[in-house]
Amino acid sequence: MAQNDRSSTQSPKLKISFEFFPPKSPDMADQLWQTVEALQPFQPYFVSVTYGAGGTTREPTLATVGRLIGQTSLSTAAHLTCVGASRDEVRQVVDEFKAVGVRHFVALRGDPQGGVGTRYEPHPGGFENAADLVGGLREMGEFEISVSAYPEKHPESQDEAADIDMLKRKVDAGATRALTQFFFDNDVFERYLNRVRAAGISIPIVPGIMPIQNLTQLKRFASMCGASVPEHFDRRFGGTEGDAQARAEVASDIAAEQIADLAGRGIGEFHLYTMNRAPLTISTLSRLGLGPQSSGLSGAAA
Ligand code: FAD
Repeated sequence: MAQNDRSSTQSPKLKISFEFFPPKSPDMADQLWQTVEALQPFQPYFVSVTYGAGGTTREPTLATVGRLIGQTSLSTAAHLTCVGASRDEVRQVVDEFKAVGVRHFVALRGDPQGGVGTRYEPHPGGFENAADLVGGLREMGEFEISVSAYPEKHPESQDEAADIDMLKRKVDAGATRALTQFFFDNDVFERYLNRVRAAGISIPIVPGIMPIQNLTQLKRFASMCGASVPEHFDRRFGGTEGDAQARAEVASDIAAEQIADLAGRGIGEFHLYTMNRAPLTISTLSRLGLGPQSSGLSGAAA
């Protein structure tokens, strides 16, 4: 298999990052900060905070990122989309993020304003797509820039080749890491990674791992994202309907098995979609022998 990160094969250390979303209510804020407190001791490589479609969560994302940078030692990335905004508006947002200390962006086009499945129209004076946004960010400062990648292709992509071509454009524009959409079939990821490497793309392609909080909701969400959910998951979760603890055990087993298998294939870096909840993330990591401040996790990045 093409190596994702050669250094990872020389070291048993795994790099883990966590993704959060900005809370929409005081209760959700409490949950997020409890989650951050619980996960901080795991010394993630970085954490990231999503940015809502059409800039709807510009303020909450800014506030969340600002608090993470100001009150924790976590290296924090801000997601940023260019949907529905002019270039000047995006630059203004970038300046605001810069002012609170952001040095790492996850640069995305964003979903169409009409919703997933509708046609994407770039803002007339805006960045056309994520590659264009990455180029714009490069001109605005010395940032670390992560982008998205889609092992099962983005639903709007004509085919896999077009999808990988877009990733290449993002890398050529200055992206230094790609975080993938969640997937569950590691063979699919391995084939994708081989095609990415064959296209001359050498940046780390970091698997996005989604511990399954709720299988029914996940299936609905996955069908919109173009991600597939293996049929045998129904069997694995079978009989756990009234038992949250049993469901959590199965979910942690699945996520830990997936990470362990990928690590065995030479992958050393993982991005966990926490859904702002700590328990599944912690039980997944503990199954891998990764505890708080465990020597198996590499320390927070600068
Ligand atoms: P791009 O990489 O620009 O494009 C995705 C694909 O669509 C390309 O591979 C390409 O084949 C096709 N495409 C795009 N433009 C064109 C074109 N002009 N011509 C032909 N084909 C084209 N969304 C949010 O709103 N906020 C977030 O914080 C957020 N975080 C995310 C984090 C990760 C790790 C991932 C994987 C996704 C995230 N998303 C987020 C979802 C993302 O915004 C959507 O998937 C969106 O539809 C595409 O954005 P992108 O940056 O991946 O697009």
